[in-house]
Amino acid sequence: MSNNTFSFFVEQFADLRILRYPVSGFEDLTLKQKELIYYLSQAAVEGRDILFDQNYKHNLTIRRTLEAVYESYRGDRSGNEFMALEIYLKRVWFSNGIHHHYSTAKMEPGFSNDFFRQIVENTDEKQLPLKSNESKNDLLNRLIPILFDPEIDARRVNQNENEDLLLTSANYYYEGVSQQEAEEYYASKKNPEDNAPVSHGMNSLLTKENGQMVEKTWKIGGLYSAAIEKIVFWLEKALIVAENNRQKKVISLLIDFYTTGNLRTFDEYNIEWLQDQESQVDFINGFIETYGDPLGLKASWESVVNFKNMEATQRTEIISKNAQWFEDHSPTDPRFKKKQVRGVSAKVINVAMLGGDCYPHTPIGINLPNADWIRKEYGSKSVTIENITYAYDQAAKGTGFLEEFCYSEEEVERHKKYGFQATNLHIDLHECLGHGSGQLLEGINGDELKAYGAVIEETRADLFSLYYMGDKKLIELGLLPDEEAFKAEYDNYIRNGLLTQITRISLGDSIEQAHMRNRQLIASRAFEKGKADNVIEKVSKNGKTYFIINDYQALRKLFAQLLAEIQRVKSEGDFDTAKNLVEAYGVKIDREIHAEVLERYKKLNLAPYSGFINPVYRVEKDEKGNIVNIHPDYTEGYAEQMMRYSREHSWLPN
Ligand code: ZN
Repeated sequence: MSNNTFSFFVEQFADLRILRYPVSGFEDLTLKQKELIYYLSQAAVEGRDILFDQNYKHNLTIRRTLEAVYESYRGDRSGNEFMALEIYLKRVWFSNGIHHHYSTAKMEPGFSNDFFRQIVENTDEKQLPLKSNESKNDLLNRLIPILFDPEIDARRVNQNENEDLLLTSANYYYEGVSQQEAEEYYASKKNPEDNAPVSHGMNSLLTKENGQMVEKTWKIGGLYSAAIEKIVFWLEKALIVAENNRQKKVISLLIDFYTTGNLRTFDEYNIEWLQDQESQVDFINGFIETYGDPLGLKASWESVVNFKNMEATQRTEIISKNAQWFEDHSPTDPRFKKKQVRGVSAKVINVAMLGGDCYPHTPIGINLPNADWIRKEYGSKSVTIENITYAYDQAAKGTGFLEEFCYSEEEVERHKKYGFQATNLHIDLHECLGHGSGQLLEGINGDELKAYGAVIEETRADLFSLYYMGDKKLIELGLLPDEEAFKAEYDNYIRNGLLTQITRISLGDSIEQAHMRNRQLIASRAFEKGKADNVIEKVSKNGKTYFIINDYQALRKLFAQLLAEIQRVKSEGDFDTAKNLVEAYGVKIDREIHAEVLERYKKLNLAPYSGFINPVYRVEKDEKGNIVNIHPDYTEGYAEQMMRYSREHSWLPN
């Protein structure tokens, strides 16, 4: 870092840690590339309101009310009630709404209903998001039950299979539509003969008008038009400085899609995007991931602007080049293997801007596009985000976390020596080979596993990676230094899956999130299956529980067996087994261990979730107004950034 004042850690509150990432290598880009990144960055923040609204239709009104109060409050800002409100607002920003970003449960405000009433009443009407003819009192009567009654819209995404998943989920992807109605509606759109099916429903709200099902599309002139117009405004500027013709085409197709909402165009865009291997600067901007919809159809808005980390990309290029070897040697049934692995492109990137569902909480690896038929025909693009994993690693130093949950000094040392490298490689393998591996049997189209589909897919990708982490081939390819290195990742995976990840869950709750379910599924299944041979041992020392791996090769075999089974489940669309595996291993938490882990964790005074604030790009111009350089600035604070985004990049009506 050239900037001496750079600090990875920004602040901590509730269960959240706010960090900062360095845009390493930005200075070495050409001016044109910097300009491209700048325009794409602007496009990345313009869609922030969309996600708030998708997450819950009252989110924007709530955020704006809280911000108005936060800004104008002239009372005691260090009083308990106000400080609780400030923390709540910071949490709402982080979660892009009032439901926890990870658990999706509605967050408790922490301040009283009376206090809220009083400060809203003392706020200037002009600053509040009142509807026409609405009084402050009306606004309060509207918001108070939503904020303070835990029964109302308790969960953003409900996965409890015994309930109507749509009527019990608070997200704004469906309105007044039951699960059965939605499922029938989208089933009727499916044509089993179509081998290039569009992703029906991914860019719309499904609702009913006069008893008829209606889709309201998110596009210019449709829902979210005001924000999408701004996104397109910046994309048009980006178009002018694109790196090459193919990238120009990618951007044009995306603009087309935002303009028409046409799902065929979206597929064309994806195909073009994944074939763009030349450009150093790249980006995601759109309706991408479907984790927020219990039916897995509706996509949340997100953006990631990035550029290739040339040096680290050599690593993923080696993996890609050998993709067929990995496919051929995987422990799965030959019927489920790809005869020809196509276009597994993988690169290591540094992010330059995060937006929507990637901000502030961000993934560390991405593999897109999601449409199964495109992946099959054209492959997928896979990335590992190195400046984010680097920032995590740096920010974790000296917290005592590792020392608390590792059984031995040896385990700690192994992590220090190999941890960063091994984890990065695990992500590379997960994204670049894992998701891209395997094939579905004829007649299976990939949505048979329904609500369990996402967990099974993540389980599959993780297992593929874990299996190969322990293969000597990686040393041969120069990806790992020696036969000790993979053990750091195995230690880490088991420790996390059985112990440390549950620090994120409140006592008595079970696991909801797909990635967490998959990690516990793998770790606890391996623990159970290896019990007879003591492969993983549960040890108690000074009243503390640890899991230690006694036999790394035996553990690798257990991963292989489970991978073969999970691949079969996916390839055959075996819903019952998927359900049984997930429910048996991935959901429930042992209460005794959970209580102990939370207690140990509490003593460390750490927050279990992290997110990142963005840099501010300072544009340097000459006297004629031409851009002469652009610099990332790392001085903006968390609340400062959020308030600025709400002031300068907020376009949707209440
Ligand atoms: Zn994944």
